[in-house]
Amino acid sequence: EAITVGELAKRMDEKGADLVKSLFKMGMAVTVNQTVDQDTAELLVTEFGHNIQRVSESDVEIGIEGDEDKDADLKPRPPVVTIMGHVDHGKTSLLDALRGTDVVAGEAGGITQHIGAYQVKTKEGTEITFLDTPGHEAFTAMRARGANVTDIVIIVVAANDGIMPQTIEAINHTKAAGVPMIIAINKMDAEGADAKNVRARLLEHEVVVEEMSGDVQDVEVSALKRTGLDELMEKITLQAELLELKANPDRAAEGTVIEAKLDKGRGPVATILVSRGTLKTGDIFVVGAESGKVRAMVNDKGEQVKEAGPSVPVEVLGLSGVPGAGDPLTVVPDEARAREVAEYRADVLQRARTTQTPTSVENMFSAMAEEQAIEFPVVIKADTQGSVEAIIGSLENISTDDIRVRVLHSGVGGITESDVTLASASKVPIIGFHVRANAKAREVAQRDNVKFKYFDVIYDLIDEIRGEMAGELGPEK
Ligand code: GDP
Repeated sequence: EAITVGELAKRMDEKGADLVKSLFKMGMAVTVNQTVDQDTAELLVTEFGHNIQRVSESDVEIGIEGDEDKDADLKPRPPVVTIMGHVDHGKTSLLDALRGTDVVAGEAGGITQHIGAYQVKTKEGTEITFLDTPGHEAFTAMRARGANVTDIVIIVVAANDGIMPQTIEAINHTKAAGVPMIIAINKMDAEGADAKNVRARLLEHEVVVEEMSGDVQDVEVSALKRTGLDELMEKITLQAELLELKANPDRAAEGTVIEAKLDKGRGPVATILVSRGTLKTGDIFVVGAESGKVRAMVNDKGEQVKEAGPSVPVEVLGLSGVPGAGDPLTVVPDEARAREVAEYRADVLQRARTTQTPTSVENMFSAMAEEQAIEFPVVIKADTQGSVEAIIGSLENISTDDIRVRVLHSGVGGITESDVTLASASKVPIIGFHVRANAKAREVAQRDNVKFKYFDVIYDLIDEIRGEMAGELGPEK
């Protein structure tokens, strides 16, 4: 029994493109017009939080319970913020300093618990959720698994050090994810701090801050002296308001694993960031290929809680095993269903892994073409800055009205693991000009199905990319 992705989307009342995206995350390259088998269809249905009514093995019916939340049910939810930036620019210090601004923790003198994320109550009474694993590796690895939990990225730049390679990487990862950024110019207390220079240099990376009449918010801070923190919190709140972040708290919960581990005394535990609904003790759930029942929940202040609503991170006890970071959690009606869905996911994911068709950028873009102009994203690494610029210039020249090259990231030097993770998250090829991938990068690329394209002559590079772009447009264009 097979069903087209388009038909399935219609029955589920979801967008075809969203299903296609989900399938890509599972490593299946299909368009809306292609069919998927029954197991895959069921997996998709559960991924989207619908119910499956399995009448018999070969007869699947999908019960739609109006899964889309009605506008009237949506309530504002706190923003989820990730901090990125170059090593030693103060990511960890800023996370600690911001945590210290929490008015509630301040009063209670609470014992902080490191569960992978924490919430801070602002002076205005709003909440902000911070993921406390700094750096873009975690961010991009989560995104590669389909978990886009971050609403806003704070890019920390040390005012006395300026824009460094990992600053640029962080900017590119953030842009690739389409998440708004706020620039925190840190170490303003340090000797040689030069915020002006930071702002000017950001221009070179197409980040135009407010002071330069752009629309990226920036704020001068010192994590050490704890200055500018209120202003940073205000800017986050402002950005969150612009995003109009909302979720329905009154429904069965869905969320994402932020981190998970096997605890000696407590068994498997996972920090879940709730995306919609409210997670309650006693809830039965599926998480990745594991299942469970919420035995207890502990928040970031070390307190036992009975409920966790949208954007609230909680450590959950009562899992059958340790899920992976980025795995989705879905609350289901009963244990039988939980086991069934978990087995399914394990099974289908296993098959998706073993029979994985190399993820085809072609298909993805033909599927998305219905909605938007086609982009041909690439990551470029080359031996010199001059080569990088020459390649970008030439690729811009071969872009047309129908399809255009989008450089997600470029840099000088060999291809590294970080390049591969970024390429993998966005399912794009990496172009190496006079450079090759290192061993670790090759290993990760093999696992994640990332393609390298090596060139030594610019003309060959342009020729091949032009050919691929034409191929993606199809014969009709
Ligand atoms: P990370 O690698 O980005 O997480 O950076 P850390 O938070 O570990 O900070 C690196 C170093 O910079 C530490 O020695 C911090 O004490 C110092 N540092 C962080 N923030 C500030 C600041 O605002 N002013 C000064 N002067 N030093 C800072």
